[in-house]
Amino acid sequence: MAHIVVVEDEKDLAYLIARTLRDEGHTTEVFNHGRLALDRLTNASMIEPDLIVLDLMLPDVDGMTICRRVRQERIIPIVMLTAKSTEIDKVLGLELGADDYVTKPVSLRELQARINAILRRVEMMESRSRTSDNATTPIKDAGLSVDPVSREVHIHGTEILLTAREFDLLYLLSSNPNRVFSRDYLLSRLWGDDYGGFERTIDTHIQRLRRKLGGPGSVADRISTLWGVGYKYERPDSDA
Ligand code: CA
Repeated sequence: MAHIVVVEDEKDLAYLIARTLRDEGHTTEVFNHGRLALDRLTNASMIEPDLIVLDLMLPDVDGMTICRRVRQERIIPIVMLTAKSTEIDKVLGLELGADDYVTKPVSLRELQARINAILRRVEMMESRSRTSDNATTPIKDAGLSVDPVSREVHIHGTEILLTAREFDLLYLLSSNPNRVFSRDYLLSRLWGDDYGGFERTIDTHIQRLRRKLGGPGSVADRISTLWGVGYKYERPDSDA
């Protein structure tokens, strides 16, 4: 059970989404105005949702701005609703880093499946960090540092902003150097078992992670692809 904020100006849709989530046992809070949602999500009197469903197109403050502002301050999973397939890259990418998206017209079943997958993943990460010593050990490897407690990543002292999933992916890979992870394994470990087996999801996230790690010739090169198998993190030869 989670507390979920829904930001959607189409009242009928907002109502349907909230009702669906409540039927699942979650509690919901609906905002029909972007400005109000932004205030409540970023100010001192802030509410503490477990997840935000956020419409991209809002009449006052748009979803992009809200996503960016919330991301600057807090780690809360965000699922974007968008009618524009051209925006998907931007929504999931470097600039905004939403955790997932659902295209309009919204399939409530799909939205629910994606929300459940994210919540399960968060729960899994939390229980793992509670039970495993390993999950609190920072990685420091030739200029790259990955801290699972603060969830911050630095490359030679410069902070790299990653989405929650990109972080989990990088931490899992870099804390197990030279171990090959199959796409299947990564999907079920980081996304939950019934995500539907979209292996391309992994490829997309790896691509974006590499881009954020600096592209070719940088830390990004340590993540290597084994065609038809999966991915691994390779330690650089020198410790420079
Ligand atoms: Ca809208």
